[in-house]
Amino acid sequence: MLTSMVGAMRKGKEEGFCVPALAGSDEVMVRAVCEAAEEAKSPVILLQQFSDLTKAEQYVEMAAPIADSVSVPVSIILDHGPSYEACVSCIRAGFTDVMLDRSSTPYEQNVHDVSEVVKMAHVVGVGVEAELGHVGQGDKYDDKSNTVFTVPEEAVSYVKETGVDTLAVSVGTSHGVYKGEPKLNFELMEELHKVVPVPLVIHGGSGTGDENLRKLCKIGANKLNIAHELYEAVVNAVRDNDLSGFKTYAVFGVIQEAVKQAALHQMDICGSTNKA
Ligand SMILES: [Zn+2]
Repeated sequence: MLTSMVGAMRKGKEEGFCVPALAGSDEVMVRAVCEAAEEAKSPVILLQQFSDLTKAEQYVEMAAPIADSVSVPVSIILDHGPSYEACVSCIRAGFTDVMLDRSSTPYEQNVHDVSEVVKMAHVVGVGVEAELGHVGQGDKYDDKSNTVFTVPEEAVSYVKETGVDTLAVSVGTSHGVYKGEPKLNFELMEELHKVVPVPLVIHGGSGTGDENLRKLCKIGANKLNIAHELYEAVVNAVRDNDLSGFKTYAVFGVIQEAVKQAALHQMDICGSTNKA
């Protein structure tokens, strides 16, 4: 069932679970993630980023019928939307939610730009995610300027000023693969969960460690973005399975099963199983 992520995330905030947001970049991945969600009776969010926005409509034409064919809530979000125009294009194409990422701009600019998208998106019932503080890149994890933690008081006024539905916060995770050991600030996560009235999002979940993520999901994360681990599962499956001779024809089946198993694992970490 194709629907905005906001309902499932609000339920997550009330009941203490997290909705997995998984890379759904092509049809095999979308099928695998939706199949896993149906099996686990979990809500799920498909993450999509574009370098070419003309592909947004094609993407929805492919993904929406698959999302609608399962009984659990499935959402499609533009991840790290770069501009107002990108958000409009994706909403027009049929995305259920958009993220506008202005986390690298000064506070006032961030508030201004996100408010504009919220005003427009809410007219057509689309949910909006924004980011305050900055989740940096894992390969630059040791560089202090790369990651900026979210300040709780600022997050509270930010949500009030923008009207945003969900907020991505920075508590020590990083995008992509880590260079160093992840140092997570669980106290900050608990504090943010307590004071911020909207559901919270964690980006850069891959490589953070299952137990760290389980804890974040339990104490206040309501959407967890995972991409790298799904791709890694694909690479491992293709390498480790015998796909010689006529078995080459099984390659997409092998990939789909690998993504499905990785998705089920993330649903377990998120505590979203049987929460649809
Ligand atoms: Zn991200």
